Amino acid sequence: MSPDNPFAQPSPLPYQLPPFDRIHDSDYRPAFIAGMAAQRAEVDTIAHDPQPPSFGNTIVALERSGRLLDRVSTAFFVLNQSNGDDEMLKIESEMAPKLAEHQDAISLDPALFVRIESLYRQRTQLTLDPESRQLLERYHAQFLRAGARLSDSDKQQLRKFNQQLSSLTTQFRQNVLKATRDGAVVIEEPALLKGLSAEQIGAAASAAKARGLDGKWVIALQNTTTQPVLDQLQDRSLRQRIYQASISRCNGGSNDNTHIIAQIVKIRAERARLLGYANHAAYTLEDETAATPKAADDMLRQVNGAALQSARQEAADIQRDIDTEAAAAHRGGFKLQPWDWQYYSEQVRKAKYDFDVAQVRPYFELNRVLQDGVFYVAHELYGLTFKERHDLPLYQADVRVFEVFDADGSPLALFLGDYYARDNKQGGAWMNNLVAQSKLLGFQAVVANNLNIPKPAAGAPTLLTFDEVTTLFHEFGHALHGMFSNVEYPLLSGTNVPPDFVEYPSQFNEMWAREPSVVAHFARDYQSGKPMPQALLEQVIAAQKFDQGYLTTEYTDAAQIDMAWHEITPAQAPAAGEVMAFEDAALKRDGADYAPVPPRYHSPYFLHIFAGDSYAAGYYAYLWSEILARDTGAWIHSHGGLTRANGDYLRTKILSRGRTMEPGVLFQQFYGGPPDIKPLLEYRGLPN
Ligand SMILES: [Zn+2]
Repeated sequence: MSPDNPFAQPSPLPYQLPPFDRIHDSDYRPAFIAGMAAQRAEVDTIAHDPQPPSFGNTIVALERSGRLLDRVSTAFFVLNQSNGDDEMLKIESEMAPKLAEHQDAISLDPALFVRIESLYRQRTQLTLDPESRQLLERYHAQFLRAGARLSDSDKQQLRKFNQQLSSLTTQFRQNVLKATRDGAVVIEEPALLKGLSAEQIGAAASAAKARGLDGKWVIALQNTTTQPVLDQLQDRSLRQRIYQASISRCNGGSNDNTHIIAQIVKIRAERARLLGYANHAAYTLEDETAATPKAADDMLRQVNGAALQSARQEAADIQRDIDTEAAAAHRGGFKLQPWDWQYYSEQVRKAKYDFDVAQVRPYFELNRVLQDGVFYVAHELYGLTFKERHDLPLYQADVRVFEVFDADGSPLALFLGDYYARDNKQGGAWMNNLVAQSKLLGFQAVVANNLNIPKPAAGAPTLLTFDEVTTLFHEFGHALHGMFSNVEYPLLSGTNVPPDFVEYPSQFNEMWAREPSVVAHFARDYQSGKPMPQALLEQVIAAQKFDQGYLTTEYTDAAQIDMAWHEITPAQAPAAGEVMAFEDAALKRDGADYAPVPPRYHSPYFLHIFAGDSYAAGYYAYLWSEILARDTGAWIHSHGGLTRANGDYLRTKILSRGRTMEPGVLFQQFYGGPPDIKPLLEYRGLPN
């Protein structure tokens, strides 16, 4: 690596912001290679230190290692997501197996593990402060979970399982992509498209043209079971065709995933057994806030029970509409089916709340929502102030950067907002840590929020939907978790917490998007500056509880299927032909099957759990986190709402703590008791 590679030295910029103006694609490869080599050398020195192991010469030394690799990986993965190009995709495929191998070489290094194990055994005599003790325990747990204590032949077997899973999960993802593309529905008669807007019909015609089907129309599928156009299409048979196309993806045919699922669940069960666990869910949840599969199962069953009650009520409202419509048209009615739900529920929604999306958007101008909504709440709760900076190099002209100051005026962090959609940006919304806070390394946080808001024409305002407003608050909740981090060690910093805790601060922050006093503060007409009329504001907020029976049930169904797949022994893994029956049986056993509400994902296209390991036995995590978030919201409301005292309390107990204590304990110390699902049910308008 050349000495003028931008990753060779720590960034000279404030807060060590990566020097975006100096980074070129050609810098990544050499920096990755040099970074891995440097960390291997550092780890070798630690593992073979002639001095007996001490907390400093082993654990702290590991925490200090890998700085170069960290600089290049962080910048690379952040930019690849937000502003990637073909060359970066190539570098990613090239580096992914090398990075996995690098990580394995460290986690399975026997000499290193001997030192960690010996420190772990003496942990009570080492007189460590609580955070250092936690760090040692986390290192030990991570090495154990990666297989450090296995015999050489078992380690061999583990590597084989990991390789098999990595190729099966890749195949699974590729099959879903292909089947989703191939499953697009072709329409020959324009009359069937009644209900879609002129733009949507135009887009369907161009989609057909792009596939060489001139003069026809194509409705592409998206990943979930339910498809977005189902709430508009009036033609019942077309709705059914689209629904069937969606649910039959990868269930048989040339992109069949049922045989891949059968192998994945068996190997995961075998790997869990090899590592000493009853099943894959037990292995995964041990490291999370929920701790045991039973805790997650109980929570899901409880929420599902309440959600089904609401869903049945919603279905009754819809059936009444179907029957009224049929009677008015002097024809026979029909029984509500999954492909009817969105269409009729949209009719019910319009009748109930009487506003449409176009009417509210002028009140949600991006910059006003950011400054008078998101930043306003952060100021009222935590005393933060924000100063936009124009002197720092960024990777794209639309990205904004703010320096964030604490209540006493001291500098806290840098916050980047990258809000617009681009061709080279991944879909969805997320938060990145560009620099993770750590006292050991002298770092303050640099965090980024990404959204995919369509960019308006030059000079036109950026007007948001209420969902986008909520997402803006959500992602900023993650940002606060990163910026408030006040810990010694990088491993325990900020958002480096389990999946079923990481969504807690963000889902909590979401709540302010629908807090009447906050909405009144930011919802002003972008031209006149007039506040949103009170009646409309109330309807917008009330509408958030609409259709929650359906939405919650489709989610809990999917999460229950996920848990069922990962609580089996190797012998219980079904054959490919039994995969769908296994799914059915799991829902029936939990009392969760209700025909009008299908699971959000059926197994053959359930990417979260089969296209990689990270959300296997982990889909429940969103709801688990949300329970903590709603409990926190209820606590804040019962203690006076939007006040500095409440904000500072939450910051001290949760937002500044990273994983310096186990997350379940942090929550208990904040809340004063175990999580309670009642506030979540209330928030979603479900019976409680
Ligand atoms: Zn999130």
